[in-house]
Amino acid sequence: MFNAHRFRIDRRSMLKSSLSLLAGGAVGRVAEAQPEIKNVNLASSPSSLKITDMRYAVIVKPGPSPCVLIRIDTNQGVYGLGEVRDIAGPQYAMVLKSRLLGENPLRIDYLFQKIAQFGGNARQAGGVCAVEMALWDIAGKVYNIPVYQMLGGKWRDEIRIYADTTESMDPAEYGRRAKERKEMGLTWMKMDLGINVLDGIPDTVMRPPGQSNWEQHVQPNLFVAAEVTDKGIDRLCEYVAAVRENIGYDMPLSMDHLGHIGVKSVIRLGKAYEKFNLEWMEDVIPWYYTDLLKEITEASPTPTLTGEDIYRIEDFETLCREHAVDKIHPDLATSGGILQTHHIGDMAFKYGVPMAMHFAGTPVSCMASVHCAAATRNFLALENHSLDVPFWQDLVTGVEKPIINQGYIRVPDTPGLGVALNDDELKRHLKPGAGYFEPTPMWDEPQSWDDALFS
Ligand SMILES: [Mg+2]
Repeated sequence: MFNAHRFRIDRRSMLKSSLSLLAGGAVGRVAEAQPEIKNVNLASSPSSLKITDMRYAVIVKPGPSPCVLIRIDTNQGVYGLGEVRDIAGPQYAMVLKSRLLGENPLRIDYLFQKIAQFGGNARQAGGVCAVEMALWDIAGKVYNIPVYQMLGGKWRDEIRIYADTTESMDPAEYGRRAKERKEMGLTWMKMDLGINVLDGIPDTVMRPPGQSNWEQHVQPNLFVAAEVTDKGIDRLCEYVAAVRENIGYDMPLSMDHLGHIGVKSVIRLGKAYEKFNLEWMEDVIPWYYTDLLKEITEASPTPTLTGEDIYRIEDFETLCREHAVDKIHPDLATSGGILQTHHIGDMAFKYGVPMAMHFAGTPVSCMASVHCAAATRNFLALENHSLDVPFWQDLVTGVEKPIINQGYIRVPDTPGLGVALNDDELKRHLKPGAGYFEPTPMWDEPQSWDDALFS
C-alpha cells in the first residue's frame, strides 16, 4: 500500500512531478501553480513512476474458482491490485509482465492497447483485464482519487446487486430458496433453469440418443438437435411459477442456463415465460450468432441478454446496433477492464441498450466493477456469486462492511479501487501448493517474439 512517510521525496522531485502535471508549463510557473494541484499526492512522483514487478496469489472459494489476484509494484512503493477472470489461470496475466516492466503505470490506455492483443473471449481476456484494473488502482492512489471519479464521476452512490440461488429439483424448494434471497434484501434475482431439471422425465426433451458429453455440453446448441416438448415447457414453468409465488412480481427476475436447445425451442420458452415477466433470458445461444439471436429476440416476448464472454467492444456494438439482444452484460474481467467496459456502456446507451454486469470473483474485481458501474449511465445491476461464501468480504479491508448491504454496494470514496488485501484471511484460502505473491523472475523476459501482428 502507498505509504507517504516511507516514500517521502525531496522538494526537487516534488517540483519535477508538479512540472510533469502541468503539461509543458514553464519552470517559473510551478510555484504559483502548486495550489491548483493540491489534490495530487505529492509524496509520489507520477512522471517517474515505473512498474518494477508483478506477482500473484491464487484463491479458492466456493462457486466460480480459483480466482487469481495480481499485484503490480512500482519504484515508489505504490502498488495496484487486479484480478484475473474467475477460473482462468495466472499465466494469462504473467505472460504480460515482461511487456510492463519499466513502463509508467499511469499510461493506462497505452498499456492496455499494448497488451490487448493477448486477450481473447471469455477467460482468455483475464490477464489483460487484471492488469488494467491494477493500473487504475495505482493511478487512484497516486492522485488520491477514487477510480469512478477518473471515469467522469458517479451516476449513483450505490450499486444494485443481483444474484441467483442454488438450484433445487423440487419447484417448491426452489421457490423457498428464492424467498430467502429476497429476505437478504436483494432487489433483483436471477434463477438458473435448464433442461437438466427434466432429466429422467419421459417426453420432455427430444434428443438423439447416444450423444457424448462433449456433444451435449460443449458443441454449440445449434448442432445438438435437442428440442424441448410441450410437457417439458409445462414442467419448467412450474419452477418459474414457484419462484414468482415466493418473491412476487414486483422484483426483477432474470433467467440463465436454459440448457443447450435449438433456436425454436428458445423462442417457445420465451413465449411460455411471458406471463412471468422475466427481465431477461441469458446466453440462450452462443453470442456470436448475431442473426439467430436477433431472430430469437424479435420472436420472444421475454427479453434476451448476452455478453459475459465477449472481449471486444466491436462485438458488443454489432449486437447493439442490430438489436440482436435486448440487454448486454459484460464481465469487466473479460470485456477489457474498467475503461473499455465504461466505453461499452456508453456505446450501448447510444443504441438504447441497457447494461447489466456479470461478475463472479473476489472483492477486488468486484470493486473494479463497482467503480465502472457507478460511472456508467445505462448500468442496471451487478451480479454476485458469493452471497453464500462466509469469508468473501473478509478477503479485503479498507472498505465499508458488509460490502453487500441490503442488496447494494456503496461506492467507495477512497483512492483507487478502495480495497486492501487481508493477508491472513487470503492465506487461509490459497490454492493448495500455491504461494502468496511469491517472486516471479521466470516471467521477467519475453518468452516469444509475438508482439507484431503485421510486417
Ligand atoms: Mg450467465
